[in-house]
Amino acid sequence: MTPTGRSTDVSTTAKRGVLISGASISGPALAYWLQRSGYAVTVVEKAGALRDGGYPIDIRGTAIEVVRRMGILPRLRDAHIDSRRCTFLDADGSEVASVGAHAVAGSVEGQDLEVRRGDLAAILYGKVRDDVEFLFNDSIDTLDQSGRGVDVTFHSGRRRTFDLVVGADGMHSPTRESLFGPEERFHRYLGYCFAIFTMPNTFGLSGEVMMWNTPGKAAALYAVGDEELHAFLTFHQPEPPYDALRNPDAQRDLVATVFAGAGWEVPGMVNAMRDADDLFFDTAGQIRMPHWSSGRVGLVGDAAYAPSFLTGQGSSLALVGAYMLANALATNRDHTAAFAAYERDVREFVAMNQALVDNGAATLFPTTARALEQRNTMLRGLVTMPPATPRPAHSALTLPDVAPMR
Ligand SMILES: Cc1cc2nc3c(=O)[nH]c(=O)nc-3n(C[C@H](O)[C@H](O)[C@H](O)COP(=O)(O)OP(=O)(O)OC[C@H]3O[C@@H](n4cnc5c(N)ncnc54)[C@H](O)[C@@H]3O)c2cc1C
Repeated sequence: MTPTGRSTDVSTTAKRGVLISGASISGPALAYWLQRSGYAVTVVEKAGALRDGGYPIDIRGTAIEVVRRMGILPRLRDAHIDSRRCTFLDADGSEVASVGAHAVAGSVEGQDLEVRRGDLAAILYGKVRDDVEFLFNDSIDTLDQSGRGVDVTFHSGRRRTFDLVVGADGMHSPTRESLFGPEERFHRYLGYCFAIFTMPNTFGLSGEVMMWNTPGKAAALYAVGDEELHAFLTFHQPEPPYDALRNPDAQRDLVATVFAGAGWEVPGMVNAMRDADDLFFDTAGQIRMPHWSSGRVGLVGDAAYAPSFLTGQGSSLALVGAYMLANALATNRDHTAAFAAYERDVREFVAMNQALVDNGAATLFPTTARALEQRNTMLRGLVTMPPATPRPAHSALTLPDVAPMR
């Protein structure tokens, strides 16, 4: 590196340099595969340290093969949460049905995984921390592709040049915005808002989910082990509440207004939300883009193709997308050809998984009394039926062989 903080000249260095923005799931997974194929990888993360948010996420189908090839499957199996049951309740809190959690999620018992998002991020980070440069507490300010690389100015004032930059910075990706324009162009709002936060487990719940529904509203308590309890309040809202999106007080007020007068444990949950210091509020939506790259800058994971929590496939798409992008960059020296191959080979898989919201993934949150009754009938049927078959979309991509190490 030169005294100005610039990386060595991209034309003379043997290793090509890639900057990845975001150190959650897709960022460290991409970093792993790229450094393995000979890239010098830097990851910049705006948070001061790895974020340990604990809500549970799923790893299914093709993504299981990705983590197996990374050598982290045994650690993830150790971290597996294994929720046993999901109990559905009606407006006054009486039981509608209690079914195996796998049957509800369309997961394959004994094969698919459910882990805390923070555990997955930590395991991925542990896999690459010695081989990859991490810049925490920083972010990209400007990207300039006018030269033979990408000139990057960081918020901290650092200036560096990289061969390639990849945005792995999530649903609200600033890299996407700087390259392709405002999020509204690519965001497909799915008609729901949600608030998620942790609260004391005073209910004696253990390794299970309780879900209360009325038309257009759901309240879930998700017990991970005996103590950790994630509360989830979701509601139908025809238009996104733009005013609340950047205002935590307005979010709390909106949720409290929507759930006023609700039964079961909902009033206690709303009170806990008021005190929660880890409230996460957002709309349920997808990112749909005609292209995932422009010049030397590409996107991966939620930044490019967030499928929404309604599909439960965000982390799996992030892992598979990272593998496929790294593979394309390892097998095509030319980045234009590599980005094209990545899109060609992953787009259908993404489309199938995003389409899960149109094929019933949202039926857990019906918006009318009739739809809720139909869902309840379906759930009562699950109690007596054999486990649901896995959803074909989860395994709809066959991974190419791992690109040779350089
Ligand atoms: C409430 C909730 C429930 C979910 N449930 C599930 C589920 O059941 N199953 C499932 O598979 N998925 C689920 N998901 C989705 C899953 O969390 C995401 O799809 C997955 O984490 C995507 O990974 P990612 O690395 O692409 O993006 P993210 O996990 O969003 O990470 C983006 C990273 O970029 C960082 N960043 C942002 N801006 C900048 C910047 N300017 N500079 C540097 N870094 C930046 C962020 O701090 C973060 O670390 C859920 C998501 C939410 C919110």
